[in-house]
Amino acid sequence: MKYESVNQAVEALRKLQQTQAAYNHAMGVLYLDATTAAPSDTWEGRGKTMEILSQVTYDLTVNPENGELLSYLEAHAEELDAQTKREVEVLRKGYDQMFKIPAEEYVAYSVLLNDAQAVWAKAKNEDDFASFTPYLEKIVAYNKKFAGYFNPDMAPYDALLNEYEEGMNTATLDAFFAQLREAIVPLIAKIQNVQQIDDSFLFHHYPAEVQRKFSDYLMEVMGIDRSHCGIAETEHPYTTNFNNKDVRITTHYHEDNLVSSMFSVIHEGGHALYELGADDKYNYTALSGGVSMGIHESQSRFYENIIGRSEAFVHAIFPKVKELFSEQLADVDETMFYRAINKAEPSLIRTEADELTYALHIMVRYEIEKQLIGGTLEVKDVPAEWKRLYKEYLGVEVPNDREGCLQDSHWSGGSIGYFPSYALGSAYGAQMLRKMEEDLGDVYADVAKGDLSKVTAWLVEHIHRHASFKKPGQLFEEVCGKFDAKFYTDYLTEKFSKLYNL
Ligand code: ZN
Repeated sequence: MKYESVNQAVEALRKLQQTQAAYNHAMGVLYLDATTAAPSDTWEGRGKTMEILSQVTYDLTVNPENGELLSYLEAHAEELDAQTKREVEVLRKGYDQMFKIPAEEYVAYSVLLNDAQAVWAKAKNEDDFASFTPYLEKIVAYNKKFAGYFNPDMAPYDALLNEYEEGMNTATLDAFFAQLREAIVPLIAKIQNVQQIDDSFLFHHYPAEVQRKFSDYLMEVMGIDRSHCGIAETEHPYTTNFNNKDVRITTHYHEDNLVSSMFSVIHEGGHALYELGADDKYNYTALSGGVSMGIHESQSRFYENIIGRSEAFVHAIFPKVKELFSEQLADVDETMFYRAINKAEPSLIRTEADELTYALHIMVRYEIEKQLIGGTLEVKDVPAEWKRLYKEYLGVEVPNDREGCLQDSHWSGGSIGYFPSYALGSAYGAQMLRKMEEDLGDVYADVAKGDLSKVTAWLVEHIHRHASFKKPGQLFEEVCGKFDAKFYTDYLTEKFSKLYNL
């Protein structure tokens, strides 16, 4: 036997994870640099470095020695503490998944995705779905194949969903989305029959330099420690975390739009708080960082919508908003501002959708993915199916594929099964709010004073500090009980009925 004692093997496991964390850190910084500060013609050397680092991390993960190490520790599972046991479990999942994909398929798929991203971007620009079709066909075929490698006992789409939200399946999601549709579709119909909200003042000229000050203010209200969390500017906002002491968020300033960056900062700030709130003991292990896409989105969308789009939050920040943008908002009061940032209107673009209609955008993508992987829809028929579903769910006509099925980058990046996490996250958040209110009483009374400390402390205690130690379903149920979409539909019905006097 290679290992003389369990302690020795555990030490090797720690070392392995620290090395993996170091490479991930380096690649994360390179990516951050590439998307923020790097001059335009510097990609070549960075590309070479990234290629080598990716190869090194692949080899570091997929080698027979690791397989032996994991097997040894699995054989001594009863001697391991709970954290180490979970580390082994998480590493085993990653190891098996990479090991099960034959190396030549892994390489071919990486090359395919690399090409697909560029083809998709061009196809989107030129509204030319046909040029993207052969790439998406291959991506779908690979994903079906990989699903079989990942989990041969599951239906392929379930296996893919499981990649983003461990334990999730189509049976749960079908029921979830049906429940959402039943509540949201009639609500939207009612809203369309009443007086519409004027939000035109949100689209005046808002200089980027003032918006930057606004971002600093928002992060301060959220209680984000700036000595551990930076903010930069990128084409598309995102959050990246190196460890629980070093998290970065990004935003994008549109000078003709006040709210785009405002809610990006609050959303990404929510992701950042989750990462910053993790317990130190998970740093440099496979358990560092948020546990799943769904739980991550529950945190970002909690701050963005449940807090950020609430009357209480608007009350707290409005004096500062007025101070920063006194000219643009000269005739606007707090109520007008609150109503404007919550205007609900069926639209074409997911990322610009309001809180109420958002889930319907996700539902369209879910239905299409399910059919593509299930084999009941061909890639070439995606545009027509997209148009049909947008008409049915949102009542809107999709004029072209650029604003239709080509709008998101997920499929070209190989992510099939990812979209449902966004809707799940929103629903998780609404249920967390009710539980939080049971524990803390009137959460919004503090928020109205600009004090989010109790809200964040509750989330740290119940969600953030656990990082990836517990599986997402278990983490959620231990805090909130059984998942029930009714919390979310009730929350939406109450909020939007009041907002529109329905
Ligand atoms: Zn997010």
